[in-house]
Amino acid sequence: MLSQLNNTIKELLFPNICMMCSKEHASGKSNPFCFSCTVNMPYTNHFKNQPNNASPKFRGRIPCVDVACLLNFYSYSDVKKMLHKLKYKGRKDIGFELGLMAGKKAKYSNYFNDIDLIVPIPIHKSKLIKRGYNQSTFIANGIAEFIKAPVREDVIIKYTHTKSQTKMNRIERVKNVRSSFKLADKNGIQGRHILIVDDVLTTGATIEACGNHLLESNGVRLSILCMCLARN
Ligand SMILES: [Zn+2]
Repeated sequence: MLSQLNNTIKELLFPNICMMCSKEHASGKSNPFCFSCTVNMPYTNHFKNQPNNASPKFRGRIPCVDVACLLNFYSYSDVKKMLHKLKYKGRKDIGFELGLMAGKKAKYSNYFNDIDLIVPIPIHKSKLIKRGYNQSTFIANGIAEFIKAPVREDVIIKYTHTKSQTKMNRIERVKNVRSSFKLADKNGIQGRHILIVDDVLTTGATIEACGNHLLESNGVRLSILCMCLARN
């Protein structure tokens, strides 16, 4: 009774605000989205068929088993604002919730089978200290609730800042991004099917760089799951 009263007081003092539409809602304290936004998000249909319109991003670049994004991401959309809150406003819960949604779709699709490890794209240590967290790790933790595999943050390390790429051609850019990551556990991932996780898929250069490092280990297979596919 007392705890119920406490919860009611907490909800009055700290109303649950939806991270998409900014309205108050009652979808449960742990949910960052209201029911209406959850239903009406710009979902892709990537979990129904492979290949889908995210797959060509990696064709001829790295071999992938399955590729999917949860949401379509257009500039100046509510998805962009929501991602900003995830990355820069401390709302790790957004990442976890998106991960849950993507993990559930992946689990009940015909794809993303036999995943052994989930590897979030790492961020540099100085960025981690400044931001306090890696948003992709929270996404990966949400996915792991459905795809029962360990989340490994120690497999790939980002150890230098990526140099400015404005004057580079495509091949130089690929080399530049690749040289800012290193594989830290080559032996421990042999023969594994690894799910690479990131927040937004734009050019795919970062995922390609990390994927190439993972493929240095014998018998590794890769799948990719991103929360958003940049459409323009
Ligand atoms: Zn909403």
